[in-house]
Amino acid sequence: MKRIYMDHAATTPVRPEVLEAMLPYFNSEFGNPSSVYSWGRAARKALDNARDQVSALLGASPSEIVFTSGGSEGANLAIKGVAWADQNRGKHIITSAIEHHAVLDAVLWLEKQGFEVTILPVDEYGLVSPAQVEAALRPDTILVSIMHANNEVGTIQPISEIGAIVRRHGAKFHTDAVQTAGVLDLNVEALNVDLLSISAHKFYGPKGVGALYVRKGVRLSPLIHGGGQEKRRRAGTENVAGIVGLAKAFALAQEEREQENARLIKLRDRLISGLSRIPHTRVNGHLEQRLPNNVNVCFGFIEGESMLLNLDLRGIAASSGSACTSGSLDPSHVLLAMGLSHEIAHGSLRLTLGRENTEEDVEFVLQEIPGIVERLRAMSPLYQG
Ligand SMILES: *Cc1c(COP(=O)(O)O)cnc(C)c1O
Repeated sequence: MKRIYMDHAATTPVRPEVLEAMLPYFNSEFGNPSSVYSWGRAARKALDNARDQVSALLGASPSEIVFTSGGSEGANLAIKGVAWADQNRGKHIITSAIEHHAVLDAVLWLEKQGFEVTILPVDEYGLVSPAQVEAALRPDTILVSIMHANNEVGTIQPISEIGAIVRRHGAKFHTDAVQTAGVLDLNVEALNVDLLSISAHKFYGPKGVGALYVRKGVRLSPLIHGGGQEKRRRAGTENVAGIVGLAKAFALAQEEREQENARLIKLRDRLISGLSRIPHTRVNGHLEQRLPNNVNVCFGFIEGESMLLNLDLRGIAASSGSACTSGSLDPSHVLLAMGLSHEIAHGSLRLTLGRENTEEDVEFVLQEIPGIVERLRAMSPLYQG
């Protein structure tokens, strides 16, 4: 059976070029970058090159890059790191209701430690309003964290505009750019951000490695204490192979992003228009300010989970809500924040396209879904045809 993977917001396969770039650092070049002899120097050189490459892609300088274990650690380091370092300046933090749990739960944990938290609402398209950010800012606000694009519904936030407002008020601004790395321009000056987190496995790099941009002058308490790696901002022997893979994957994605985005947008819009023909279907998220690969729809009278199982039987991988919450019966916090009812939010289906997906894949999915919807609805006591 042909298998079609359409869950690229959850993770992506490692590209062959990336794997090839990583391989030497598992054995022949296995040195510890902190060692002075030749093995160590080779690893240090690979690490320095990767740091140069990543910083250039972000329009930053190499000393502003901290390599992490991924998006979750990047968000935790940015948020807890700034909160601990700046707590004598104030204890107020602002975020939005549609953030990834890595951001939301870090902020809520800080609230338990005595910080004050404002969680901004979003509109029906999942957009955060810059005016609402401005209104929420206080003299004691030390940090604002708003994601660049949402992993469930694909809505892209006006980060540059929000960043300018936050800077005027003297607070630090973090953006979770895990879904936009290799997709949108991540120039940190244009975005007006102080901290920005990315994760390699979302752009065809390996799992368990990421990078956090920390603007020069931003004070950060480390989460992990120990050695002096990463300029004392993150202790531990560096994941050299992973970091090499991250840099390679990021560079390739940036090189190809315009062409690939144009291709994905066509496939995305074909999927959205095809699925919209199914009765009682609503498209979630913003139609223009949207990631090129994201499709998110709700089919009324259907459970997202049963849809996923039926798609899996046909070899199609998709997601309902986010990967972290699937398996639980909680509806998506993102869809609820956008004003959808619990009932509707349960019936959401997310298809996220990627490099391997073709027009034929899209046509196959469009051929299978209407029948599945019809059969599931026929079994629903609520559905009256
Ligand atoms: C996947 C994801 C994360 C978490 O990244 P990991 O590397 O898996 O820890 C954070 N934020 C967003 C928006 C994501 O999509």
